[in-house]
Amino acid sequence: MRPKMQILFQDADSSLHPRMRIRESVAEPLKLYNLVPESDTEKKVVELLEMVGLQKEHLNRYPHELSGGENQRVVLARVLALGPQFIVADEPTSALYVSVQAQILSLMNEMQQKYGFSCLFISHDLSVIRKMTSNMGVMYPGKLVETGRTEDVFETPKHPYTQALIASGRVAGLDNKQKISPIEGEIPDPMNLPSGCKFHTRCPQRMNLCEKVAPEMVNVGTGKVACHLF
Ligand code: SF4
Repeated sequence: MRPKMQILFQDADSSLHPRMRIRESVAEPLKLYNLVPESDTEKKVVELLEMVGLQKEHLNRYPHELSGGENQRVVLARVLALGPQFIVADEPTSALYVSVQAQILSLMNEMQQKYGFSCLFISHDLSVIRKMTSNMGVMYPGKLVETGRTEDVFETPKHPYTQALIASGRVAGLDNKQKISPIEGEIPDPMNLPSGCKFHTRCPQRMNLCEKVAPEMVNVGTGKVACHLF
């Protein structure tokens, strides 16, 4: 199953071996799983690089000779080399300049349409989540508090944390005149989490019950929410 599940990390530069040329890095999974005859490896590597917008001239370069965006393209080429059915993309663009981010996200969308893989996309950037996902889950801290169809969650967020996140205005297209309302209080220490609902120390709608009992996920509309209000 392993070749069918791949991961894209946040920092592409450290995902590539600094002493391996791009040709070797992209060829490695092909050799490891005997996907193409050795005589065809270079042809396949060039094909993969071209697919992600790089050229033959990149073959002999080392990661330090490429930009962050180019290295993320190389990693994507290497991931796609195995024909995965499932990709975990862990903040794959957060280390990149905004203009490069947009290019990589479009490329990922294009590749997903072409190859049809499923993708678990992890991000702190709500505008990226809205652009990239059809279904989403919101975590606090480390636990799902709301899941649902992305557009539904953005249009009618149910959990007070999701509501606060969306109101904090990190969403693309936010009207500049709209006020940003930050969430009060601090993120709890993961080693010393609050009792009951983990959001109760910051929730404007908390009730007595919230401090004592952790809410279970329940079906609400097209999604699920873990909150005693539901
Ligand atoms: Fe707020 Fe209570 Fe819902 Fe937690 S369970 S989010 S404290 S209302």
